[in-house]
Amino acid sequence: MDATTPLLEVEGLKVEFKTRRGIAKVLEGVTFNLEPGKTLGIVGESGCGKSMTALSIMRLVPIPPGRISAGSIRLKGEDLLQASEKRMRQVRGKDISMIFQEPMTSLNPVYSIGDQIAETVRVHEGLSRRAAFDRAVEMLKAVNIPAAEKRVNEFPHQMSGGMRQRVMIAMALACRPSVLIADEPTTALDVTVQAQVFDLLKELQEKTGTTIILITHDMGAIAEMADRVMVMYAGRAAEEATTEQILTAPKHPYTQGLIACVPHMADKPPPERPPLTEIPGVVPALTDLGSGCSFAPRCPHAMDHCHSQMPQPQELGGGHRVACWLYQEGAVA
Ligand code: SF4
Repeated sequence: MDATTPLLEVEGLKVEFKTRRGIAKVLEGVTFNLEPGKTLGIVGESGCGKSMTALSIMRLVPIPPGRISAGSIRLKGEDLLQASEKRMRQVRGKDISMIFQEPMTSLNPVYSIGDQIAETVRVHEGLSRRAAFDRAVEMLKAVNIPAAEKRVNEFPHQMSGGMRQRVMIAMALACRPSVLIADEPTTALDVTVQAQVFDLLKELQEKTGTTIILITHDMGAIAEMADRVMVMYAGRAAEEATTEQILTAPKHPYTQGLIACVPHMADKPPPERPPLTEIPGVVPALTDLGSGCSFAPRCPHAMDHCHSQMPQPQELGGGHRVACWLYQEGAVA
């Protein structure tokens, strides 16, 4: 596989959930490719479909009440939506791994961290108990945990939040997966530890060539980590482009709003510093989406037809795609 052949191809992915208020369309035709060794950032507010995209790739959408109703997810050409559950158990952890927001709820409190990492390797690679334990120590060293030979016998509650997230990263990378999905991996950590975790992920990516999907609402994390960015809103991709295009020349009004919300180190201290902006309103209920652009009720550029017709993704050149009527009519925001 050459560097530009997509490792993962997601096309027209639709996921819906049956709820008491009706059918919630949590993903509506999500499409993107992942190039080997690169990082795709997925951003958006809570409820926009970021984590559901990750769970769909892992085939971990709870069914029922959920349902993957359309689309394909191809890993190195294999359609994961057609794979058996037995095959998916091999894929999870071996080909695609995931790290979550809160490591304390993802680690088993009654097993040592060494046992938990070793178990992953034994299941997927069939290593002996001794070899798997040695791999656990090796992985703890790789994620810069001091005194790894000693700490491998510790339990999750004996470690700090930052150390536990390092353990999760070690476990996720123990079988050298092709794709690592990091779902808000630093949300529960303080700012200095966040920076260390991102530095670690970048360092490990350079060493192993792992492809990363970084799910976050933090534009700073995107600037530091991502090569490309997909901005999601109400289950759809509003905009997708390189990180530079998104940060310096965002096209979709929602992306522009997200960027405007990021606090900057202003030249002048308060009160001269302008107040932080916000996007008015909230993400709509996914059971109540109409036929128009889901962002229309919050959009400062909304036109009449935005409320009744859904804009389709449009290629603007250079791999920059945006779903907004402003660009489909040739107008410029
Ligand atoms: Fe705003 Fe219309 Fe573009 Fe939606 S399609 S983001 S409402 S301008």
